[in-house]
Amino acid sequence: MVEAASHTASLAPVSRARAAVLLPLPLVGAYDYAVPEGLARGCLVRAPLGKRELLGVVWGKADGGVSQEKLREAVPVEGARLPLALCDFVDWVARYTLNASGAVLAQALRVEGAFAPEMYRRALILGSTPAGKLTKARERVLAMMADGLARMPAEIAELAGVGAGVAKGLVESGALRWVDLPEFVSPAEPDPSFDAVTLGADQLRAAEHLREAVKKREFSVALLDGVTGSGKTEAYFEAVAECIAQGKQALILLPEIALTVQFLDRFAARFGCRPLEWHSDLPMRERKRVYRAVLSGEARVIAGARSALFLPFKKLGLIVVDEEHEQAYKQEEGVIYHARDMAVVRARLENCAIVLASATPSLETYVNAKNGRYDWLRLSKRHGAAEMPDVRLVDMRNEHGEPGTYLSPPLREALSRTLAEREQALLFLNRRGYAPLTLCQKCGRKETCINCSAWMVEHRYRKKLVCHHCAYETAIPKTCAQCGEENSFIPCGPGVERVEEEFRAAFPNARVAVASSDTFLGPAQAQAVIRALSAGDIDVVIGTQIVAKGHHFPQLTLAGIVDADLGGGAGDPRSAERSFQLLYQVAGRSGRGEKPGQVLIQTRNPEDPVMQALAANSRDAFLEEQISERERNRAPPFGRLAALILAGEDGVRVRETGRALALAAPRARGVVVWGPAPAFYQVLRGRTRERLLVQADKNVDIQGYLRTWLAEVKIPSNVRLTIDIDPISFF
Ligand SMILES: [Zn+2]
Ligand SMILES: [Zn+2]
Repeated sequence: MVEAASHTASLAPVSRARAAVLLPLPLVGAYDYAVPEGLARGCLVRAPLGKRELLGVVWGKADGGVSQEKLREAVPVEGARLPLALCDFVDWVARYTLNASGAVLAQALRVEGAFAPEMYRRALILGSTPAGKLTKARERVLAMMADGLARMPAEIAELAGVGAGVAKGLVESGALRWVDLPEFVSPAEPDPSFDAVTLGADQLRAAEHLREAVKKREFSVALLDGVTGSGKTEAYFEAVAECIAQGKQALILLPEIALTVQFLDRFAARFGCRPLEWHSDLPMRERKRVYRAVLSGEARVIAGARSALFLPFKKLGLIVVDEEHEQAYKQEEGVIYHARDMAVVRARLENCAIVLASATPSLETYVNAKNGRYDWLRLSKRHGAAEMPDVRLVDMRNEHGEPGTYLSPPLREALSRTLAEREQALLFLNRRGYAPLTLCQKCGRKETCINCSAWMVEHRYRKKLVCHHCAYETAIPKTCAQCGEENSFIPCGPGVERVEEEFRAAFPNARVAVASSDTFLGPAQAQAVIRALSAGDIDVVIGTQIVAKGHHFPQLTLAGIVDADLGGGAGDPRSAERSFQLLYQVAGRSGRGEKPGQVLIQTRNPEDPVMQALAANSRDAFLEEQISERERNRAPPFGRLAALILAGEDGVRVRETGRALALAAPRARGVVVWGPAPAFYQVLRGRTRERLLVQADKNVDIQGYLRTWLAEVKIPSNVRLTIDIDPISFF
C-alpha cells in the first residue's frame, strides 16, 4: 500500500472537473473526485479517503455517484502518470480474475515513494590540499579519497577504519568538502553488440525469426521449443538485442528469480552488464530505483519474477517468458493469476512481441503452437558437441536394495563409476527434510500438524518435526500421545536429508551437498551450492526441484531420480504433464558438456506413460496422448475450469456456505458445477477448506457465469471465498 508523501505542490487556482479515481484497495471501484480540468487517465493524484490520503490514479470519466457536497479534491502528483497500456492491463486482469480493479492496481503501485521528487544525498569528496603534518588516520582517509569517488561519512569511517570524527575534522580543515549526489544511479546500459556469440544453424534460424518479430513492432507470440541444452537463451538474447537496438524495453520473466545468478552472468557476458532485477527480495530502495527507471524508459532490460508484469514500462518492445511451463508463474494468493497467460495479454495490449521458451512446453502452449496460433520455433539438437543423455528405468519392484535404503544397486554402480571418472552427479528427490512421515511403531499414530490436516515432516539437521504448510514445528516426541509407548516413533520414507545420509555411508570420500527449497536453506545458500557445483568443488548434489531447472553444469554426467512416482495429485488433470516436465528437466541436467550423460529413473511403475515417454525420449508422442485424454474429458485447453475455495475457522459455517453456494448455482448449457467437497488438505493453518469446481465448455463465458452466480449469494463475513480462474493446483 502506498501512503502519499506529505509534500504537496502549491496549487494555483485551476478550473475543477470531476473524474473517477481508482485507489489501490481491494473491494472498491473508482470513486469520483474533483480534479483540475484536463487530467487524463493514468495521471497520479493524492486523494483523501476518510482521514487518510492515498496515492490514486485518474481512471476515467466520473460516474456521478458522489454528490457535489461530498465531492473531495484530489491533488495531482506533478508529472506522474502510469502508461495507458498498464491501466488497460489492470482492468483486463481484474475482469479476467474477478478481482476489484483496485486490488490489481495495488500490484502496480507497490513501491513506496516511487513518485516522490528525487532526493539528493550529501557526500564528501577531496577538497584543498592540507597544510602541515597529518595524523595517521587523516592520512589514511585522504589516501583512500584520492581516487576521486564521493563517499558518505559513515562509509569513509568504515572503509578507512577510522573513527567518525576524522572525516568531520577534515571537512573543517577544508581537506574534504560536501557535494550533492543524485539519489539514484542511472542503470548501466546493455550493449546489443557487446559480445555476439556464434549460434548453431537451428539457433540462428530461431534468432532471425525473433529479431524480425521484434522489428515489426506488433503483437505476435512465438513458442521457442528447444530440448534441454539447445541454447534457447542465446537464441532469445538476439531478440533482446534487437529490442535494445530499436530503442525499446525488454522484460524477461523467470520462474525463480532468486536462483538465477547463472542467468544474470550469461546476460552480462552477452550484453556487457547485468539486467535490472525485479523480485520480492529486493530492498525497498532498489525497488524504487528500478521502478523509476522502468517508468522513465531508462531501464532497458528487466529480468524479473511474475510481479514484474505490473511494472510501468514506457515503451515495451518484447516480453520473454523463460521456462513458460513452470508452475511458479501462478500467483496463488491475493490476486490469483497466471503470469504466462497474463504476459500474453500484456504483449497484446502493448502491441509487441512475446516469446515463450521451454523444453517441455505446457500443453496449452503446445496446442496453440500446433494450431498455428503461435509461431513454433524448434531447436531439436543440443548445442555444440553435446548429445541427449541415455535414459534407463530402474524397476524398484525387483531392482531395489536392502530394506530401508533408497539407492538401488544399479544407481549405486553408476554413482561409483561417475565418481571414479571425476565427473559430477545429481540425485533428485522432490521432498524436503528427512522423512515425510513419522509413525508410532506400536499403535500406528501418525504425527500430524495441529493447524493442518497434513503430516509433520522430520528435519533431522534441525532436530524438529515441521509442517510444510504452516511452518509449525515441534520436537520429535519421546512418548506417543496415543499409546504412551516410549521412543516408538520411526521415520517412514525418504526426504533429501535421508538420501544424503545413505549416500554418505556408501561414499564417505565424495564431496556432497544438499540443495533443498529456499524456505529452509535460503536463496544465498542455494546459490552457493550452485556455484560450488559449477566450480567443481562438489561431486554430488542431492536436491529437490531447486536443482532441476535451468542450470548448466558441463561436468555433470549422471542424474539419478530417486523416486519418480512422487508427484501426481488428486483430481488434477495436469499431474502427468507436470511429472513429465519435472523429470525431463532433471534428466536434462545430465551430459550438457562434451561427455555423454546418463539418467537413471527409479520407479515402481515402469509401464506408466510418463516413464515410457522419458525412457524413449518421446515427448511429442506423450503430449499427443495427453491431448486426446484432455479432449475426451473436456479438460483445459479444451474446456474451462474455475475453482471456488471457501475457507474459515468455523468449519460448520464453511460447509454450510459451500452447500448454499452449490444450491444457488445457475443452470447453464455447457456448465457443470462439482462439489462442494472437502479440499485435499481439509484444514490448513487452522482454516477448514471446501472446494467447488466449475467445468465449462470452451466457448462459455465463465467469468460472466460466475458473476451472475456470486451476485445471488451472500458469503458470511467469517468465511473467505477465493476464486481461481484456470486453477493449476487442486489442493
Ligand atoms: Zn503409539
Ligand atoms: Zn500446518
